[in-house]
Amino acid sequence: MLVVKIGGAAGNNMDTVCEDLAKLVRSGQEAVLVHGGSEETNAVSEKLGHPPKFITSPSGFTSRFTDRETLEIFAMVTSGKINTILVERLQKLGVNAFGLSGVDGRMMQAKRKEAVRAVENGRVRLLHDDHTGTIQAVDAPLLHMLIRAGLTPVVAPLAISPEGVALNVDADRAAAMIAGALKAESLVILTNVPGLMRRFPDESTLMPKIERSKLEEALKFAEGRMKKKVLGAGEALGEGVQRVIFADSRIPAPISSALAGKGTVIS
Ligand code: ADP
Repeated sequence: MLVVKIGGAAGNNMDTVCEDLAKLVRSGQEAVLVHGGSEETNAVSEKLGHPPKFITSPSGFTSRFTDRETLEIFAMVTSGKINTILVERLQKLGVNAFGLSGVDGRMMQAKRKEAVRAVENGRVRLLHDDHTGTIQAVDAPLLHMLIRAGLTPVVAPLAISPEGVALNVDADRAAAMIAGALKAESLVILTNVPGLMRRFPDESTLMPKIERSKLEEALKFAEGRMKKKVLGAGEALGEGVQRVIFADSRIPAPISSALAGKGTVIS
């Protein structure tokens, strides 16, 4: 079992990822593809006159604030557009891809963040309408059922709360939880850089291998959203995934190259 996550940031090449995935699936590889979409959500939010709102926590972390309207735009962009286009491309390449988000059939359950603390004008405020969540469970039998039926699941990063509310979840963490639940052999996280660098953006400092026990140390080198990938790698390995590979989506045959050891291999 292979889980692949394709990033949504500028530069990520969906065409080569789909071509390579299709080749692997046609040769008998079981796979799940997970994707993001935050960059495009920001762009569409601007166009719709509801620009993204970023908040800073008292400890200094910046994150997106997802009110109900933003959640609906996020669903429109990720489940609606990106997911459909990925399924379309894979179908064109002879793969019977099946798009879903974690809301469908309650495939991913998440705990909603009750209230988030944000610093505004020097004062800490509690914001209540946030629609983001932390994934708690993945319905592995549901995914196995699809795969056994010859389908390749393509997953958009939305989950559902126990109360039945759709939530925006981090796509890297979603891929990690799915890989863990399926006891995947490999989780390949493709992005617009060659892997984890000791001194970003100096590519000569790429870390080709990281032992699981050294992951905490590696977290120090990751900035911004790269931190979520490192945290996800730790979660996946903790759930029994054998190796996690951070690799470049911009090169030819990006998945096969990652599986052959190109990128940052964490095991
Ligand atoms: P994606 O949407 O492809 O998942 P993200 O923007 O979430 O991409 O994360 C990848 C980005 O992480 C890179 O483009 C890079 O700017 C940033 N980054 C931060 N620290 C590092 C690091 N130490 N090594 C590599 N990339 C890093």
